[in-house]
Amino acid sequence: MDLDKHRNKNGTINGVSALSEFTGLGQGEVQAIFEQVKENNAKLEACQYHEFELHEQGPVVSRWKYRCVHCGGIINGSDYRWHELGRRTPL
Ligand SMILES: [Zn+2]
Repeated sequence: MDLDKHRNKNGTINGVSALSEFTGLGQGEVQAIFEQVKENNAKLEACQYHEFELHEQGPVVSRWKYRCVHCGGIINGSDYRWHELGRRTPL
């Protein structure tokens, strides 16, 4: 993929345009996904204390999704594992 054709006038890369070509999704779909990611991050960052529960299983454990019962933010299985390790009482 030639990233230069997705370059903005200021030299940065237009991520929506580049990902649209890379994934084959329309730019509107890519933009909608970007908005969902931003919204999810905002929820997670504003939450005082996460308590995650299993939200969606998949074929690979690291891709299972966990949802916080307080903020509704969603993380993947890999992030969940690190999050829970951080809550363990030190030995
Ligand atoms: Zn939360």
